[in-house]
Amino acid sequence: MLNRRSSALVPAFLLLTGVLAACGSKGPVAEAGQEMVAPAEQRLIALTNLDQRVARVGYRLSTANAELCPAVRNSPGWLLHAASQYSPELRPYAETRFGLDGDLPGLLAVPEGSAADLAGLRRGDLLLSVNGEALTRGVARRTAAFEGVEANIHKLDLALAAGPIEIAFRRDGNDQTARVTPQRACGYDVQLDPSDELNARADGKRLFITTAMAGFTATDDELALVLGHELAHHVLGHRGWHEAETRGRQTQTVPALAATAGGSERQADRVGLYLAARAGFDSSIGPAFWRRFGAFDWRVRYPQWGHPSAEARARALEEVQAEISARRASRQPLVP
Ligand SMILES: [Zn+2]
Repeated sequence: MLNRRSSALVPAFLLLTGVLAACGSKGPVAEAGQEMVAPAEQRLIALTNLDQRVARVGYRLSTANAELCPAVRNSPGWLLHAASQYSPELRPYAETRFGLDGDLPGLLAVPEGSAADLAGLRRGDLLLSVNGEALTRGVARRTAAFEGVEANIHKLDLALAAGPIEIAFRRDGNDQTARVTPQRACGYDVQLDPSDELNARADGKRLFITTAMAGFTATDDELALVLGHELAHHVLGHRGWHEAETRGRQTQTVPALAATAGGSERQADRVGLYLAARAGFDSSIGPAFWRRFGAFDWRVRYPQWGHPSAEARARALEEVQAEISARRASRQPLVP
């Protein structure tokens, strides 16, 4: 999640998330009838709420489908952020609300059942050291910067690649320790990009989803459908991606998947629906999602750039869902 935390989120995103749907004024407004919340802080709340959703869904997809992913790694399941990656406008709120300090990574999301959760870590904990090696706070900078927190996360990833880690962390001003036993997961970060474009993509190392796209998904099941499609591009080895062994990733041989006619997008739709179902999400919402998306955005209503029309994708997903239901009924494994 090491994207630039800018303050320029678009109104469409704010509206779609539902977090701030009632807010039209420019000045501070009361939250829950009491606390005065500045617009910048409202944007931070909306952004981090969406981060937590994406982390929760991404964690379930990546652990449930580890055996199908060509690149795997040891995952703690947490989502980290640091004060230094926020714009000067958002940073003071991030520091106050989350107890962040410089480049030190803080836990922004701890999905239920993840290794971090099982180790007793919570949102708001600030990581100080790993296996006795201190993480660095860095120097204060005026603009958003990533190098420092990236270096800290790199240290954590290398330690996790070797197995369980000892973590020192700060909670409510007290320093404590925990032992985190990572879980096997697909080796791809999921990144939320602040943008008003309805889009998601994958590049061989990461899955990206824009704030607008994540906000458009009405439920975790819909978000899993979108992220599942992008993860499927990795599972299917599309676009000749071969890089691995970065930040503690390892490669593994994965089962050959059943061939599907109709090009890589249709394959990714099919396998993505399986990945969502395997992670326990309701995959039956796929066709309705594509029809809603097609009605909302004319660009996906018609076939273009190798993507079938929204209606064609909805119909194809109806067939895939029937296949998934049949496999479930006959107790066959859900392998695409
Ligand atoms: Zn695709």
